[in-house]
Amino acid sequence: MKISRVKGFSDILPGEIETWQFLEDKAREVFSHYNFSEIRIPILEKTELFSRSLGETTDIVEKEMYTFADQDAKGSLLTLRPEGTASVVRAYVEAGLYQVEPVRKLFYLGPMFRRERPQKGRLRQFYQIGAEVLGRGDPYVDAEILLLLSDFFVMVGLCDLTLELNSLGCVQCRPRYREHLLVFLRKRERELCENCRRRMERNPLRVLDCKVKSCFQVTSEAPSILDYLCEACRGHFGTVERLLTETKIKYGINPRMVRGLDYYCRTTFEWTSTQLGSQNTVAAGGRYDGLVEDLGGPPVPGVGFALGMERMVLLFSMKETKRQARLALYIAWIGSAARSWSFPVVHRLRRKGFRVEMEWEEKSLKSQMRRADKLGAQRVLIVGEEEFRKERGLLRDMDSKEQVEISLDEIESNLMKQLTSCEQEGRP
Ligand code: ATP
Ligand code: MG
Repeated sequence: MKISRVKGFSDILPGEIETWQFLEDKAREVFSHYNFSEIRIPILEKTELFSRSLGETTDIVEKEMYTFADQDAKGSLLTLRPEGTASVVRAYVEAGLYQVEPVRKLFYLGPMFRRERPQKGRLRQFYQIGAEVLGRGDPYVDAEILLLLSDFFVMVGLCDLTLELNSLGCVQCRPRYREHLLVFLRKRERELCENCRRRMERNPLRVLDCKVKSCFQVTSEAPSILDYLCEACRGHFGTVERLLTETKIKYGINPRMVRGLDYYCRTTFEWTSTQLGSQNTVAAGGRYDGLVEDLGGPPVPGVGFALGMERMVLLFSMKETKRQARLALYIAWIGSAARSWSFPVVHRLRRKGFRVEMEWEEKSLKSQMRRADKLGAQRVLIVGEEEFRKERGLLRDMDSKEQVEISLDEIESNLMKQLTSCEQEGRP
């Protein structure tokens, strides 16, 4: 008898797993650059951890959790983790990590479980890579994790993601906004979906997150939270913006982005792609300054994000050639002098971590170009006999087919620059 997998749960088979491994490796690399340590948290937690931290009126807690009775403890419930932040904070508090070193930069990788309607980019078991910085409340930390994400996207070659920012204020200023929003929503109540009507009095901000079209139309006219921020929150947000501008990270502001969980405050953000259809958020997160204390820890702030692996993998599968199989550079050489020059250059670039290839034996330019194409090279440096005498080469972008003449002296520094950034100016 053939037994099939459970709806919304999937296998990751050879052929696809290579993309996952590539992304996971790059994530580990960038986390290490930013001095984050890995933490492995259990898949099963007590249900109250999530109901308390995510909020009783969130979609996850209301209807999406895989919860069952704990047969070893009467009356207790257990839940397959729907997200990672609550567990990381629980572990931080439980192990007293703050006693040794109050500021912790932690990351995790692994499956999460939510009983949602399975569709493209939405599964019931899905994988996240996430990170949390616990113990510091200043806007530099927010900027640092946005930079980390930006670096990660550049490293894996996803250059067309959009960053949106918002601030959700704090316990000082949000209640005033909440009141004004509620007044607005009451006036438009008839246009809202049933779900929003039901929970709007208890949690009006949730309505801003509703994906139903009529709710979306109503809330696009709602008052903006950014007009209600207290001075401290405005200052915090202003600094995050300044730091992003100074580091050339492009972003937009979306005052209705509240995210799906109740624990967020101040900075929230989402990275989206236009290529994913309706499940277009690749990574999302924000600040959660009250959560550690709510879960029995010291009053320390936190900020973090989670990135959806399946959506990253989907973006990859849409690229013509799989990124991990692509060469960063192929050197096509003609003549033994060009070969002698190329050999150590290739070696040096490889040592710096780039996938680079050249032929061992002389072949026609035409056949070298064919091979570069087959190998999925992003760029080809052509060092012909004539050009070599003039100490020049031709650098061809294999995607745009653009070709520029370049001095061989400058080639390495020039390539280093190109190979480490998606575009010359502006990152995703
Ligand atoms: P969305 O509603 O856009 O799926 P969310 O607000 O529920 O996102 P988070 O809980 O913050 O998102 O999760 C962070 C990321 O994890 C999402 O941006 C997405 O990439 C991924 N993710 C969330 N839920 C799923 C799911 N059911 N299947 C696949 N990926 C998911
Ligand atoms: Mg969701």
